Amino acid sequence: MAETKYVYTWGAGKAEGDATMKPLLGGKGANLAEMSRIGLPVPAGFTITTEVCTYFYDNKKSYPPELKTQVEAAIKNAETIMGAKFGDPANPMLLSCRSGSRESMPGMMDTVLNIGINEKVVQALIKQSGNEHFAWDSYRRLIQMYGDVVLGLKPETKNDPDHFDEILDKAREHAKVEHEKDLSVDVLKDIVAQFKAVIKKHAGIEFPEDPMEQLWGCIGAVFGSWMNDRAMVYRRQYGIPHDWGTATNVQAMVFGNLGDDCATGVGLTRNCSVGLPGFCGDYLINAQGEDVVAGTRTPLRIEETLSKDAPEAYKQLDDIGHILEKHYKEVQDIEFTVQRGKVWMLQTRNAKRTGFAAVRIAVDLVNEGLIDVKTALEKRRIPADDLNQLLQPIFNPAAKAAASKTDAFLAKGINAGPGAATGQIVFHASDAEEMWNANNDAQLILVRKETSPEDLRGMKVAKGILTAFGGASSHAALVSRQMGKTCVCGCDKLSIDYEAGTVTVGGKVLKGGDWISVDGFTGEVFAGKIETSPSEVMDVLMGKLAPEKSEIYARYAQLMKWADEHRTLNVRANTESADAVASVALGAEGVGLCRTEHMFFDHLDEMREMIFSTTKVDREKALAKLLKFQRDDFTHLFKTMGDRPVTIRLLDPPLHEFLSEHHMHEDPTLGPKLAKTFGVTEEAVARRVEELKESNPMLGHRGCRLGIVYPEITAMQARAIIEAACAVKKSGVDCKPEIMIPLAGYKTEVDNQTAIIRETAEAVFAEQGVKVNYMVGTMIEVPRAAMTSAEIAKTAEFFSFGTNDLTQTCLGISRDDYKSFIGYYTENDIVPADPFQTIDQTGVGRLMKMSVEDGRSVRKDLKIGICGEHGGDPKSVYFCHEIGLNYVSCSPRRIPIARLAAAQAAVEGAKKK
Ligand code: ADP
Ligand code: MG
Ligand code: MG
Repeated sequence: MAETKYVYTWGAGKAEGDATMKPLLGGKGANLAEMSRIGLPVPAGFTITTEVCTYFYDNKKSYPPELKTQVEAAIKNAETIMGAKFGDPANPMLLSCRSGSRESMPGMMDTVLNIGINEKVVQALIKQSGNEHFAWDSYRRLIQMYGDVVLGLKPETKNDPDHFDEILDKAREHAKVEHEKDLSVDVLKDIVAQFKAVIKKHAGIEFPEDPMEQLWGCIGAVFGSWMNDRAMVYRRQYGIPHDWGTATNVQAMVFGNLGDDCATGVGLTRNCSVGLPGFCGDYLINAQGEDVVAGTRTPLRIEETLSKDAPEAYKQLDDIGHILEKHYKEVQDIEFTVQRGKVWMLQTRNAKRTGFAAVRIAVDLVNEGLIDVKTALEKRRIPADDLNQLLQPIFNPAAKAAASKTDAFLAKGINAGPGAATGQIVFHASDAEEMWNANNDAQLILVRKETSPEDLRGMKVAKGILTAFGGASSHAALVSRQMGKTCVCGCDKLSIDYEAGTVTVGGKVLKGGDWISVDGFTGEVFAGKIETSPSEVMDVLMGKLAPEKSEIYARYAQLMKWADEHRTLNVRANTESADAVASVALGAEGVGLCRTEHMFFDHLDEMREMIFSTTKVDREKALAKLLKFQRDDFTHLFKTMGDRPVTIRLLDPPLHEFLSEHHMHEDPTLGPKLAKTFGVTEEAVARRVEELKESNPMLGHRGCRLGIVYPEITAMQARAIIEAACAVKKSGVDCKPEIMIPLAGYKTEVDNQTAIIRETAEAVFAEQGVKVNYMVGTMIEVPRAAMTSAEIAKTAEFFSFGTNDLTQTCLGISRDDYKSFIGYYTENDIVPADPFQTIDQTGVGRLMKMSVEDGRSVRKDLKIGICGEHGGDPKSVYFCHEIGLNYVSCSPRRIPIARLAAAQAAVEGAKKK
């Protein structure tokens, strides 16, 4: 049996792997191979496959026995190409050891540079480069990264000491310089000695002098970093399976820190904040890779100064950008190093982008002829949820202008994540998380010198992110863009004092908890709250802005046209009369759920009169008063929706929602007694009692159970609907009411209600002398309905999945109380996702599938939709497409997202087949 190939080499225009091999080689490795294949300058190296990572975790962190010789052969190959030898005291090759999984997880795992330096090699580096500073600087970086990554000395919380940083800080202070690059050689030598002492003291070992030992230490650390906490959090957030594993890339070093004709940088083949064409990015002269993303020095902009600073390098980069876009047919995010004027490519991947940029780039690439429409619609190009950003509020221009005139304006940074955010200052991610857990409505702005992957949890809950250092490619910028958060970074006028808990700008001092506003479109930062106003796209849709005035709208409209041409699912709105106009503007093709009770809340007196009625006659009298209001509302709704179908659900909630028992039956002395016993205030007791309160899903006298016991309610509602429909029909609109029975589980329940509705309708038709086409159907929202769908479909003319209640009743989890444990469940992989956000496909989804099949076995053309909150969740939309629903219905704001998701399901589903 041939031995398994665990190592794939690349270099000098060749490669054993290619871009299609991401599962095995990881994204970084596969693309390094691909770039090498297409002749781009890539330092030689090799990838150790993700299979080794799997093996590593399956076998108590050990390696397959064949690995060692394969790695040694691959090192030889790189040595031949680079003309130097790893560990050689005369002509040394240095290596980097880099993580890289199938999907990019920026900054989540570890990388070590300059591997292979020891006391002898450092002398060789000095001789070869003629640059003592470079050699000692590289050495101290190796020891620092080795200590942090391999020996675990990196501080984990804000309170842990960072021994290496402390030494560097002191040295800089002592030498009165801002950056390490300005330290003298003697100081660097001394730092190297101090770093080694730190390792001895805190890790209990000598820093290894043997290059091979260094390398294997790093390889182990990279595989080990796959399971670190921040990588796990990241994977959960982005739905990346834990069992994919990471690859490890080992690559010959090139140097951006050899002098002023050297640089390192990251770039984008187009702007990924707003989508404008043109190469852009960040670079630092005389620096090494991690300096740019770490945000410790604020970099220069490629598009602004590189063509002057280093015209040769700029030209090489620009050419490479074009080659890459043509080859990958997608905007690329690259990492490069310039060594003595020559550009070396260290990474390329499809660029992450904001929703704004995603829409613009996809539409532009089609118009430039690089891709076709179906490709533009792919979900990896425009995650449907990201459309949200185009529909989000921005700062109210008047409020912002007013703020600009006062001294509220603080400073301007880099506009890294578009949007407008206003909130209270919080300095630490852990504090942000805590505050958000205590109050989900908290509006927070995370204000930091720079962010690092440890801050991810805090960034998730913040409305916006503001940093003092770091450029448009810093960690803060990258992650914000991905999360669709408003972000301003590199705002270097801010002086942040974590210890004092203050941020100072000019003479102004703001404390944690103070309000601050950041404009991610412009980079401006203001003290205080600023009112927000609607998005441009929304303004055009609502007729407040001329379409030709908005470039964003133009591309949005183009994209939505393509989406509509490709999708097969219809998209409806969950809406009542008031939001019907907006729903149509956002593209609703009907109403999937009109909750009739919403209008009752405006007529509580009449409603309570009905509730207090003891006889049928009295009840009918009260209902007659409600009839008028209902009819008027339906008339307006039908008129707005025209010939689009409108599904109206009969009264659903239990009557106690209209008359609640807020009376305190408890012992009135209990509160004070508890307060005294536990030494807390009475308010604290009351708060705790409130916290403990559970409201389990209402399974009582509600839904069709009301209409069955009080048939006159159903009769009144049916009358209101049909009378409104007749009136609208007489005015020339061919409205299509669909009357929907809630919470049925038995066919007999559906029969009972259907009979009342039909009888009422016939009576109204006779009175009005006109007929309207209407349907009577049912919600499928209790498991019994799903399981007896073949029965129910004999009566019901349509089905609509009420997935909120279906999820509650199928899982036995109450949506009102699950907040206390769902976080723990998702973080510990007990559930793959929040089942009230994304359909639980294996459980609830199975019921749905069964219901669709059984229902249609009786009634071939049974119209089936979904009206639960899930109707606006892209993943759930894909699922609804797959199981053959006719439509999804969601809240008006999510309609464009559902339209795009439906198109993606159609386009990518077709590809799968
Ligand atoms: P991440 O996944 O966090 O971006 P990388 O493995 O890409 O980590 O490494 C970060 C940076 O380190 C790179 O962008 C590059 O600048 C630098 N780097 C990595 N390998 C090399 C190398 N062989 N030569 C020069 N710089 C390197
Ligand atoms: Mg990288
Ligand atoms: Mg329901």
